[in-house]
Amino acid sequence: MDTLPPDAEDLRIRTRDFIRSVVMPAEPAPGERLDETTLGRLRAAARTAGVFAPHAPKDYGGQDLPLRFWSPVFQEAGYSLIGPTVLNCQAPDEGNMHMLGLIGTEEQKERYLRPLVAGGVRSCFGMTEPHPGAGSDPAALQSAAAKVDGGWVINGHKRFTSGANNASFCIVMVRTPALDASARGCRPSRGHHAAGGHGCPRRTHWRPN
Ligand SMILES: Cc1cc2nc3c(=O)[nH]c(=O)nc-3n(C[C@H](O)[C@H](O)[C@H](O)COP(=O)(O)OP(=O)(O)OC[C@H]3O[C@@H](n4cnc5c(N)ncnc54)[C@H](O)[C@@H]3O)c2cc1C
Repeated sequence: MDTLPPDAEDLRIRTRDFIRSVVMPAEPAPGERLDETTLGRLRAAARTAGVFAPHAPKDYGGQDLPLRFWSPVFQEAGYSLIGPTVLNCQAPDEGNMHMLGLIGTEEQKERYLRPLVAGGVRSCFGMTEPHPGAGSDPAALQSAAAKVDGGWVINGHKRFTSGANNASFCIVMVRTPALDASARGCRPSRGHHAAGGHGCPRRTHWRPN
């Protein structure tokens, strides 16, 4: 992409300035972690500067940047190791916000998207499974969800679930009865599942909220 439209270029430049002038001077020393007080101060400054959550819907506290312009703005955020965390555009939260914005119900958006964009919670994304389950190809998904009274029951084993230990909820990719007859791929649905756990969640008869 050679040039950005004026709004996206303006956000890129402001993000670039913010990262260099506000975030980088506050980076923790090598080997130390970013403390919560500093993170809160930097995020408040990012909101004031209009660079917080660039990819998220404006109604939820983001900057409404269209998907095709995420990359140059995220590159500016990533110039500092703590930049994506400060701007709340780090993986997997940024993708989960995007998905919730696209396919979430209003109730799901209020319950999951709003606190995620605000930076009050973290999320995770459960796709990868042990062999012979899914890696990059969702057609290999082994985990399955079955509809029961009042919700779904999920059986499956996920691994490499980044951030699962600190996540308030997990968006889980599973096979549903409607897809059982086909191995052609996946179709995101409106199912959503609260979870905690670690980086290798195994759930048997897991009944989500
Ligand atoms: C730091 C880190 C963080 C991660 N975080 C997460 C996470 O948060 N959530 C999560 O779900 N996973 C996560 N993963 C797992 C990561 O997404 C997996 O490595 C990936 O899903 C597996 O894809 P792959 O291409 O590496 O391997 P594979 O899926 O085993 O594929 C290996 C190769 O075979 C090819 N291939 C695969 N299927 C086919 C096919 N049907 N036909 C032809 N070629 C094929 C692929 O293109 C690839 O070249 C993480 C991994 C790392 C290292």
